[in-house]
Amino acid sequence: MSNLTPGTPDPSCIFCKIIAGQIPCHKLYENEHVLAFLDVGPLSPGHTLIIPKGHYKTVDVMPEETAAAIGLCLPKLSRAILKATGSTDWNLLQNNGEPAGQEVLHAHFHLIPRVKGTDLREPIKGNGLPKRAWPAVEIDHVTAGKLAEQISSLL
Ligand code: AMP
Ligand code: ZN
Repeated sequence: MSNLTPGTPDPSCIFCKIIAGQIPCHKLYENEHVLAFLDVGPLSPGHTLIIPKGHYKTVDVMPEETAAAIGLCLPKLSRAILKATGSTDWNLLQNNGEPAGQEVLHAHFHLIPRVKGTDLREPIKGNGLPKRAWPAVEIDHVTAGKLAEQISSLL
């Protein structure tokens, strides 16, 4: 649990470390407020995370300008990702808080390219109620590096 002022870097946060350049990422785009990079556990090729450069845990504690900056980059970023991956459809997925499925506690938007006829969710077998899980795969860094270059060149 962090007592830092919202917006200031959290030294224990993996996304703040990516922003600071202490951990590598396949960067697609950045501006003053926002960084976009490939998810290391993609649900589909081109699965991208868009994050504010300030450390805000969830969208509800973000300044309006920060949330607006994320919204502003969505059209051009999605166009480049769709073009590079040959997809025509995509999901924007966003979890706020651990009960909502948020694992990295620095707000982020998942931009997930989709291909017609695919269902990203897999059934989980068990005795309880039927559940569906998101089957993330491990990233292939060689392919991801080329894809990141291709997407960046389209922006
Ligand atoms: P969420 O469950 O919404 O918090 O999603 C967190 C996402 O962050 C997951 O899809 C992870 O694969 C992704 N992730 C975690 N660490 C990294 C990293 N170092 N680089 C890129 N993506 C990451
Ligand atoms: Zn952070």
